[in-house]
Amino acid sequence: MTAVRLLILDAEARTGKELLQMAGLPSMELRTATDVSSFFDLLSAWQPDHLLIDVTLAGVDGVELLLRLADLEVDARILLMGNISQRLLEAVRLSGMAHGLQVIGVLTRPISPKSLRSLMLAEVTETHQAVGLATPSPLALPEVSVLDLQTALAQRQLSVVYQPKIECRSGALVGFEVLARWIHPQQGFIPPDLFISLAEKQGLIDELTLQVMSQALPWFHTFLSQESLSYLSLGHRAELTLSVNISAHSLPSADFFPKLMELCQSAEISPGAIIFELTETGAMEDPVASLDLLTRLRMKGFQLSIDDFGTGFSSMLQLVRMPFSEVKVDRSFVMTSADSHESRMVIKAIIELAHSLGLKVTAEGIENQEALEFLQELNCDRAQGYYIGRPMSAEQIERWMQERIQRREEQRLQTLHSLNLLDTPAEDRFDRITRLAQRLFKVTTCVISLVDAERQWFKSRVGLDVCETDRSISFCTHAIEQEEVFLVENALEDPRFAHNPLVLEAPHIRFYAGCPVRAPRGDKLGTLCLIDAEARTFSEQDKQLLSELTAMVEDEIATSQMLSEDHLTGLLNRRGFEQRAQHLLSVCQQQSLPASLLYFDLDNFKRINDEAGHQAGDQVLIRFAAILKEVFRGSDLVARLGGDEFAVLLIKVSEASLEPVLLRLSELIQDHNQASSPLQSLYYSCGIAEADIYKGYSLQKLYNLADQKMYRNKHLKKLT
Ligand code: C2E
Ligand code: CA
Ligand code: CA
Repeated sequence: MTAVRLLILDAEARTGKELLQMAGLPSMELRTATDVSSFFDLLSAWQPDHLLIDVTLAGVDGVELLLRLADLEVDARILLMGNISQRLLEAVRLSGMAHGLQVIGVLTRPISPKSLRSLMLAEVTETHQAVGLATPSPLALPEVSVLDLQTALAQRQLSVVYQPKIECRSGALVGFEVLARWIHPQQGFIPPDLFISLAEKQGLIDELTLQVMSQALPWFHTFLSQESLSYLSLGHRAELTLSVNISAHSLPSADFFPKLMELCQSAEISPGAIIFELTETGAMEDPVASLDLLTRLRMKGFQLSIDDFGTGFSSMLQLVRMPFSEVKVDRSFVMTSADSHESRMVIKAIIELAHSLGLKVTAEGIENQEALEFLQELNCDRAQGYYIGRPMSAEQIERWMQERIQRREEQRLQTLHSLNLLDTPAEDRFDRITRLAQRLFKVTTCVISLVDAERQWFKSRVGLDVCETDRSISFCTHAIEQEEVFLVENALEDPRFAHNPLVLEAPHIRFYAGCPVRAPRGDKLGTLCLIDAEARTFSEQDKQLLSELTAMVEDEIATSQMLSEDHLTGLLNRRGFEQRAQHLLSVCQQQSLPASLLYFDLDNFKRINDEAGHQAGDQVLIRFAAILKEVFRGSDLVARLGGDEFAVLLIKVSEASLEPVLLRLSELIQDHNQASSPLQSLYYSCGIAEADIYKGYSLQKLYNLADQKMYRNKHLKKLT
């Protein structure tokens, strides 16, 4: 290996040395030129392999300087720095690259030693660590020839590593990207960028990719068929994907893709599980032929990803025209997202653009929690990077999976415990939802189950006597491994549950449907689940309804009880009522269910307050609230909207069937009045409005209508 020679063009001869020392890169040969002419002299005399150029040096036209370098066909790796914005520097970089220069990065002044270090060492050091090799001396780049590469291919020296990809929101595993590795018998680790571009130039890239695929596909097949994936999986087995890098140089060759497809077939991997990642689509020789080919691949079911999006060669036009299914945001933006406003704007724009075209977005280069959180906020779909997992060998992947399952479970339990929900008394706000679910689905049992380390504990339960069961036999443990509803239509026919004591003995579970309940930051706490002693079927619409009800449970967990409660009566306050009513009405609309709003106003409240004092007034309100609670089933919303106004929202109850309920209400009020003094007696007026598919589901409309009716009733009373 040859030591790296770095030539710096900078006004101060000293800065270069200091920078390298600060960045921890002292062991390289270094020369500094302070003006352009001595820079070019040193360039030809000393032949450096790296250049660090200040493009804003007084008297220097940065773009012109790069043009001169391009004319000289300089193949050194170039870093640009300057006293201008990152954006302008990027523009200079692009112009340099468009002229064939290898501009590997830009640094705005003042230069942070950290970004210098990460730019210069990125590929070399990091990948060495990933394959467990000793870190080479900084920047000592190996030199390999075509012959070396030919030999490597003939002797099958290339190996592969796999880097995991997760879903941003849930952290569930979604797949792997396979990356080529070459450990040269004498030179050791060769950076992929180096041998890939060599293979591309020398027409060896097709063979290289086929060798990569012939190793990765059988591995992926074995991985997918692992027993342990079935319910300890981190994601949906059927949806796991394998991403493969395809060079634009391979597109024109006629027999390349047929061979790839053959490999897929013989490894029994369906095209839908494969994502081809393409970079430099702008450099495609024949865009029309490429479009034809890519379209054909898509029609066969393969997924297509545009790699390194946002950098030099991929363009917006390509994205819109070509049949891509995914965009990969280039890692240079993600890795600088913490420090660079521009990077954040670029990432945001790419995600919005991709989503507006119906494409998924993967962000790569995620190196810390902050970057992951930033991407979660932007609704990025998938994430990849050292923070999640480095590129790993097949054996390392096994261990990574085990550790990840453990780590995620620890974090999940920590979140669950921090919410202080376990072993707390029953709460109306949760019971309301389980009762409603039980009624809508007509099942014997509905519970909100929280899955603790060794047990599941029920925060709310209808139709079940016990408050907890052992986790090892719980259905919910399986349900929280899923992203959506987990369904067991007939437990006796399911080998995982046929011998479960909850199936063989009381409560004799036959049917189970559980939807994961998430904490605000995504951890799955437990489920909202339906249980029945009869086997049953469950439609897509049922699943959707259960998910909606689960979202209500999540809302209750996320919002503080204090803010939505009326402190005097313990009923919902206006804010709490309206939030929940809107949500329920939209569920009713989706499911075409009727709903009714009852609006109450006390007739004599002002007189009580004026003549008997506020304390007596409060007592009357408390009493009325208690009677409302008693009359209206727990699954409905009962609220004090303010003053002496009350409201009740009932689901799936028609106006006609309300009559007996209202009769009961007036009976209870009469009982109260008979036992109280005239100043404590209650008189109220009520208006009812219905929502259904014909009348619509607007809460505002319901308010208006019920209010009108209530006033009409009040008026009529005065007349009689
Ligand atoms: P790529 O396709 O963009 O692959 C991602 C690269 O980013 C990998 O580098 C990976 O190790 C690195 N990476 C992933 N996460 C992080 C992170 O958090 N921080 C940092 N600093 N880097 C991260 P690698 O393996 O060195 O590959 C470099 C490039 O070589 C790849 O870039 C790809 O363009 C090319 N390449 C690798 N294997 C193949 C292959 O089998 N075929 C083709 N055609 N190209 C390949
Ligand atoms: Ca890639
Ligand atoms: Ca990439």
